Amino acid sequence: MCQTNRGVTVWFTGLSGAGKTTVAVEVEKQLQKRNTRVQRLDGDIVRESLTSDLGFSKEDRNENIKRNTFVAKLLTKHDVVTLCSFISPYRSARDYARQEIEEVGEFVEVFVNPPLEVCEERDVKGLYQQARDGKIANFTGISDPYQAPENPDLELRTDQETLEESAQKVIDYLAEQNYI
Ligand code: ADP
Repeated sequence: MCQTNRGVTVWFTGLSGAGKTTVAVEVEKQLQKRNTRVQRLDGDIVRESLTSDLGFSKEDRNENIKRNTFVAKLLTKHDVVTLCSFISPYRSARDYARQEIEEVGEFVEVFVNPPLEVCEERDVKGLYQQARDGKIANFTGISDPYQAPENPDLELRTDQETLEESAQKVIDYLAEQNYI
């Protein structure tokens, strides 16, 4: 069957450990079951390749988003559902991504928003402890800013919802908007 939808980028933003990757992986699985063309771009992975030269200063974070937006835009242009999980703490960088991607398709901002305490308790990668111990500088939420979205398309309270519920909210939103 011919795919007639425009491409869409789903942009997951939130603190480290908020659940961006976990939800994106689940959404990817659901979409693959529907034979939807989907590609994930994940901060932890691209920072080992495409943006391995970058650190966590504001300038480097913005450059990270700029390069990944370039890739997401190409995928979106070719009608791929593109799932981006980047902390992307700066509102201006997220707005840049939206502006670029809306030139070729749709953009959905998803605020993955459990409280900081929950992320810190999860401490999936042990990074919060290291940041508290002063071993990591510029750590978002601890020693670096996170500018929460003011008007996200979707908010996921991953501390109150199951993973399945969070993922389903994304799928339902995409379906309601006729993006999938
Ligand atoms: P991020 O990509 O935002 O840094 P991760 O996805 O790597 O975050 O980690 C989120 C952690 O929270 C995982 O260990 C995951 O199992 C857990 N978690 C608990 N409940 C949820 C939920 N409803 N949605 C997503 N993750 C959840």
